Amino acid sequence: MLEVASLGSGSSGNATLVRAADTTLLIDCGFTLKESLKRMASLGVTPSDLTAVLISHEHSDHVKGIGPLSRKFGVPIYLTHGTFGRLRDDRLISYELFHAHAPFTLGCIEIDPFPTPHDAAESCQFVLRHQDARFAVATDMGVCTPFVLDKLCGVNGVLIECNYDDQMLRNGPYPPSLQQRIRGNFGHLGNAQAGPVVRAIDHPGLQWVLLGHLSEKNNTETCAKEAVLASVPHAAERVDVLQQHGVSRWYAMTGTTVERAVDDAQSQDSAVGESVTLNSAVT
Ligand SMILES: [Zn+2]
Ligand SMILES: [Zn+2]
Repeated sequence: MLEVASLGSGSSGNATLVRAADTTLLIDCGFTLKESLKRMASLGVTPSDLTAVLISHEHSDHVKGIGPLSRKFGVPIYLTHGTFGRLRDDRLISYELFHAHAPFTLGCIEIDPFPTPHDAAESCQFVLRHQDARFAVATDMGVCTPFVLDKLCGVNGVLIECNYDDQMLRNGPYPPSLQQRIRGNFGHLGNAQAGPVVRAIDHPGLQWVLLGHLSEKNNTETCAKEAVLASVPHAAERVDVLQQHGVSRWYAMTGTTVERAVDDAQSQDSAVGESVTLNSAVT
């Protein structure tokens, strides 16, 4: 079983706890050290519980707290070469560079990183596996490519980006150039893109769909949830929206059964066709 909890998710800070047995990983640390410790404590986790921190990319909403966390507690930080090269605060006590195409294992969790289309030096996201249970993070992506969609197929839980509502972005405070960046192929997934992705990867073993990285200016929880549920109306009980200013509950997910593995294959087949549509629709 994998357990997942968000310390907070949104354009001004992201951090996600994933744990299985004696292994606890923090994916990104986009809050100050003080705020991170406070939020972890409310979920019953201390820095000494952390096996490692995985970093997706160098944007401040993902790395704000990693320098202080490293220097004060010596937690190992795992990141790509490109991300390390762009850190403003690279005085890390202990770090490991990983290749964004090469799986590795920390404690009892296997990490399968995958590169993502985003305007960062070497952006990636992760599929995490413990025994048969798999959980994926899929945020900070301008488009869900067939390659990324393939990585997400068959997961038991996903944190998917719903950054913006089209209309709110168009009518909101951002200048056209920034709107273009957000909408672009190296920007962020909006509500309208997330729904079809969830539909493409849905299968009987998909237990949690966590909508995250919402923009506070260009989206609302209601807009995000309604947009995704329009694509998967039967999944209302499995869809939750993560908060920017507060932690989530713990979400538990287990591996699919043999019977469900057949469904996995079917959903993968349908997803391959869908992915082509998704990609060409955006480009
Ligand atoms: Zn971000
Ligand atoms: Zn980013």
